Amino acid sequence: MDRQTHIQLADPATAETDAPLDVTRLLTTITDNLVGMIYRCRIDAIWTMEFVSDGCLKLTGYRTDELVFNNRVSYDQITLPEDRERVNRTIRTALEANEAFDVEYRIRRADGRIRWVLERGVGLHDKQGQLAWIEGFIQDISERMAVNEALREAVRRYSSIFENATEGIFQTTPKGRYLNANPALARIYGHASAGDLIEHLHDIQNQLYVSPERRAEFVRQMQAQGVVHNFESQVHRLDGSIIWISENARAVKNADGVVQFFEGTVVDITERKQYEAELEHQASHDSLTGLPNRSLLRDRIDQAIVKAQRDGKLVAVVFVDLDHFKLINDSLGHHVGDSLLLEIAARLSSCIRSNDCVARQGGDEFVIVLTEQDSDQEIIAVISRLLESISQPWVHHGQEYGQSCSIGISCYPQDGTDPDALLRSADAAMYKAKASGRGTYHFYTPELNLAISERLELENSLRHALERDEFRVYYQPRIDVASGRIVGAEALIRWDCPGKGIIPPDSFISIAEETGLIIPIGQWILREACRQNSAWQRAGLPSITLSVNLSPIQFRHAGLVASVADALQQANLPPACLELELTESFVMHDAERINVAMQSLKALGVDIAVDDFGTGYSSLSYLKRFPVDRLKVDKSFVRDIDTDPDDAAIVRAIITLGHALGLKVVAEGVETRAHLEFLQHHRCDELQGYYFSRPVPAAQMEALLCGRTGCAGDCQAERDALARGTDGCGCGSQDIE
Ligand code: C2E
Ligand code: MG
Ligand code: MG
Repeated sequence: MDRQTHIQLADPATAETDAPLDVTRLLTTITDNLVGMIYRCRIDAIWTMEFVSDGCLKLTGYRTDELVFNNRVSYDQITLPEDRERVNRTIRTALEANEAFDVEYRIRRADGRIRWVLERGVGLHDKQGQLAWIEGFIQDISERMAVNEALREAVRRYSSIFENATEGIFQTTPKGRYLNANPALARIYGHASAGDLIEHLHDIQNQLYVSPERRAEFVRQMQAQGVVHNFESQVHRLDGSIIWISENARAVKNADGVVQFFEGTVVDITERKQYEAELEHQASHDSLTGLPNRSLLRDRIDQAIVKAQRDGKLVAVVFVDLDHFKLINDSLGHHVGDSLLLEIAARLSSCIRSNDCVARQGGDEFVIVLTEQDSDQEIIAVISRLLESISQPWVHHGQEYGQSCSIGISCYPQDGTDPDALLRSADAAMYKAKASGRGTYHFYTPELNLAISERLELENSLRHALERDEFRVYYQPRIDVASGRIVGAEALIRWDCPGKGIIPPDSFISIAEETGLIIPIGQWILREACRQNSAWQRAGLPSITLSVNLSPIQFRHAGLVASVADALQQANLPPACLELELTESFVMHDAERINVAMQSLKALGVDIAVDDFGTGYSSLSYLKRFPVDRLKVDKSFVRDIDTDPDDAAIVRAIITLGHALGLKVVAEGVETRAHLEFLQHHRCDELQGYYFSRPVPAAQMEALLCGRTGCAGDCQAERDALARGTDGCGCGSQDIE
């Protein structure tokens, strides 16, 4: 018995019961039952098998005797042709090196199926020491190969996702080093490659995050919850620019629950953030001026209130409304209006501190919120600066324009405790400022609410006044100084409002202008004045020129020339009997366009007068070119003509100027004999005023007209009667002559 075949087991317990080990039998048993084939083959071209174990049939589908000595098929034949060369090379190389070999390849079984096998073998020498055989073992590894292939495929797929993803993918240590990053992450952070990124970024918290606290928060959430969703932060790119990212990540823990690393994805959301910011800005800011709009304004007032409650100070809500902005918009066009608004926005912004706020409430209305105010005096100081700044001339295309604004102020806490109440109060105060002559400011007082509701009521009634036939035309005669005769009259509108009596035009013309009602109202008075003048003429009364005031709004209206022509034609009135009055301040706005419009009116044959002369800023060169017939000296200069040397000088200058330009000069507001004498002395052409007659209804004007021809004797009594607005037949002829 040699050592190889008889091995005594070491365990005495089993040694006594078991038979001595028969290694040959044991090997035979193993050989026959192994899943796989034990073999010995020659090292020839076709690997002639000299021995194969019973596993041959299961492995190859051939019986052992079919394979042995190539009885039916050689082993080389069943090796797949594509793999033969490689198998050959691998085995021979190993044999030459006197090493065992391992080789995987495919065989074609007897039934035609292809299987993967793993062959392991070792060379065997003959007695002469020549390599003559191989002994080894071949087993079917198709299943394992399939699993491996699936694994490889999965790895291929996942690495493709990793490499080609548009999202950045990372694995990092909790301390902030990169373990892994994909190319997209490198791109997002501005690195040339993932390798570069991993090498360069070794302190994520301080190198990457704009706010290191944000990274600390990320780590905190990861430790606490194990995940973060849509975690948004700002990070530095390699080039120094800052972008917004959103991260989704999870913490990967070991079996003991200790966090090993973080892994997750990153998307660049900078564009979305910018878009959101833009949308938010658009929703809260005015698109023209870029100032906060009314919704943001409310927030700002709210914030100011909260702050004022804390430190016991005042908040002022300042409502700024441009005076006559509609006029600029209508006369110069919207683009000019827009650039004026931009200019105003800039001026207002320059007058306040950085913690105050200017907002555009809409149209030509701005609201300023002044915070941390101690007293009214402090507020007034800012308001004075605002008024001063706005009143600086504004230059557009080389032309200077004057501009003013009306300001209303409400204060927290006394005038309101929320934004709406404060805005309402400031708005009411602003209306009061407008009514007090514009270009000024007014603080809110509780009585103003009443005034506002009255105004609203007036506006409402005005809408129906025309259809209810509530307008009346009064006439005020104009006297020729040389002849002392009535040569004209001014048609002045009155509103006979039920319950309120006769309302003067100053109380409603501006409302009519703001609401656009001035267009139909203006047309009505034009037609009525023409009809009346024509009726007087047909009645045989002396022909006079009747003046009708035109609102700038009417003047801008495309249908004006047609409606004047229509009024003349319907009344069958000679155009020379109609004069249109335009206020001076308006005439000087957009002089070029006005000139064109004036020329077309003039072409109809009507006269044109510049009203309230001296109150605007006339440019002499325009005045010379305009087809104007009369200048009407504003009554504010006439009032103190005999006592105020300045007024006297102005009126003398206007008369001289008018004459130099070949125009007639009319003085308005002639109330006293002293006025009359002064104007007569300085050769004013025509006079209008209470001294001769107040504006009177048509019937009284008719009486005046008939008196014009037949009036004689002492006219003082009649004149007094006229001045009182009572019936009378009068003219100033006796006094003047
Ligand atoms: P205006 O065109 O300058 O009219 C002259 C104003 O001076 C009239 O006021 C007249 O009553 C007043 N007045 C006349 N003589 C004297 C006087 O001796 N002393 C004083 N203190 N005042 C005198 P009224 O009628 O209240 O009209 C005010 C303004 O309303 C007018 O000023 C004119 O701008 C406007 N207006 C009147 N009627 C119309 C109209 O039909 N259309 C338009 N768009 N505006 C009108
Ligand atoms: Mg007038
Ligand atoms: Mg006037």
